Amino acid sequence: MAKFSVIIVGAGITGLSMAIALRRKGHDVTVLERHSACQALGGPVGLSACATRVLIEYGLSDIMTKRAMEDLQGANFRRYDTGAILASSNRKKIAEAYGFPSWVLARFRLQETLAEVATERGITIKFNSPVLSIDQDRPAVILKDGVEMEASLIIGADVEGIRAVTRDAILGETTDPITHFTGYNIDIPRKLLKDDPELSHLLQQVNAWMGPGQIVFASNMPDHGDKINLCFVTEEKAGQQGEWYTLGDLEKLKRTYAHFDVTLRKLLDLADPKDCYIWRLSQIPPLPNWVSKSGRVVLAGDSAHAMLPYVGMGASMCVEDSACLAECLERAESVRDLPKVLHAFEQIRKPRTEWFVKRGGKMASIWHLPDGEAQEKRDKAWASKPLSLPDMKVWDGKHIDDPPVEPTVPFHPLINPWTLAFDIFSYTQRRLDQIMV
Ligand SMILES: Cc1cc2nc3c(=O)[nH]c(=O)nc-3n(C[C@H](O)[C@H](O)[C@H](O)COP(=O)(O)OP(=O)(O)OC[C@H]3O[C@@H](n4cnc5c(N)ncnc54)[C@H](O)[C@@H]3O)c2cc1C
Repeated sequence: MAKFSVIIVGAGITGLSMAIALRRKGHDVTVLERHSACQALGGPVGLSACATRVLIEYGLSDIMTKRAMEDLQGANFRRYDTGAILASSNRKKIAEAYGFPSWVLARFRLQETLAEVATERGITIKFNSPVLSIDQDRPAVILKDGVEMEASLIIGADVEGIRAVTRDAILGETTDPITHFTGYNIDIPRKLLKDDPELSHLLQQVNAWMGPGQIVFASNMPDHGDKINLCFVTEEKAGQQGEWYTLGDLEKLKRTYAHFDVTLRKLLDLADPKDCYIWRLSQIPPLPNWVSKSGRVVLAGDSAHAMLPYVGMGASMCVEDSACLAECLERAESVRDLPKVLHAFEQIRKPRTEWFVKRGGKMASIWHLPDGEAQEKRDKAWASKPLSLPDMKVWDGKHIDDPPVEPTVPFHPLINPWTLAFDIFSYTQRRLDQIMV
């Protein structure tokens, strides 16, 4: 197996997990990040069993177990007006069923942890290094200050709102993300909830209130300045794509959610109007290709497959990408083989990630159902068993390579096993054996 010099654009979850994956295989990796440090943006991020198995393989079990929220029991899905629990998940049982834990932590904390591990392992992360353009043929990155850097391979893990320099370079045009929803992010100090018997239970679980065209997530975030994060999502297009610092109108939000559970209204009364930021949720349409014509530049992570958060798989897909690309590169004996293995990576990853992109859109419509027959059917189906657990009468416990149904099919007993018990390492090897003949 050849060792390559690799430049990764973007030190997000994809760029950093990719750097760790490639360094393990002996490649020489440099990560370029436009910001001066990891950014404390966004709320909590969940890593499912299919992704934690990857990070455990990378040797991150101890550090992640310490940092992920240990006291979190699972998630409750509630009716929007009464707060009645419609369905619940249990993290411990899910871990037992699929053999690997699920971790939840602040997005910033995950990024910071990956950066810490990457640095310890000898990976160079160059902050303050915004990439302006890509020369696909050499290949090389051109930084904003005019500095040019060449490598055997360039990986685009850069996303900045509607901008993604590497994606635009590969496709030759700007891809506009699809956005229908706006989230209002609010952080409230945990201590304000701890002593209130009506609110303290919210510290043990992730909670989601599902209402017509509106949902709310409340996630306890002890690793995030000891705050609980609330995200109120509405079907509107407020704020700018990729803009995290636009203040939302808290009073308007209170009016919009006046018909929701009294608990939420109580929480909104505790919120500081200076701490209510707008976030535009978005997904990107399926891209024609992820690999440049030269075969030496490739996309990964959100740059290739940004999805709505209704499937909770965005970060997990980024981590899976890293494992898959590292396995693919093992099949390259020289730079000449790179186009072939990068196309193999695209061929392996595109179907699964695009399934989740479509699924995110479908789940948004299910979560946002207006009261009526379809909503009653959803509530009945969800209440029938604990969420995310496999039905062992239907699943034989073995790996499922292909999605059991189209992403628009609302319920199928094999969706969870296919999603969560997925072993990207062995799957990639099997697919490479078919592709690389
Ligand atoms: C609020 C929120 C909640 C979420 N919840 C979940 C969840 O529960 N479960 C889940 O699986 N996923 C979740 N996601 C999705 C998940 O966070 C993303 O899928 C993941 O962060 C994408 O990682 P990335 O590295 O591809 O992109 P990013 O994390 O966006 O990182 C891209 C990096 O590239 C840098 N960059 C951009 N342009 C340039 C340039 N020109 N030069 C150099 N650097 C550049 C950026 O500064 C940034 O650091 C959530 C996302 C958000 C925002």
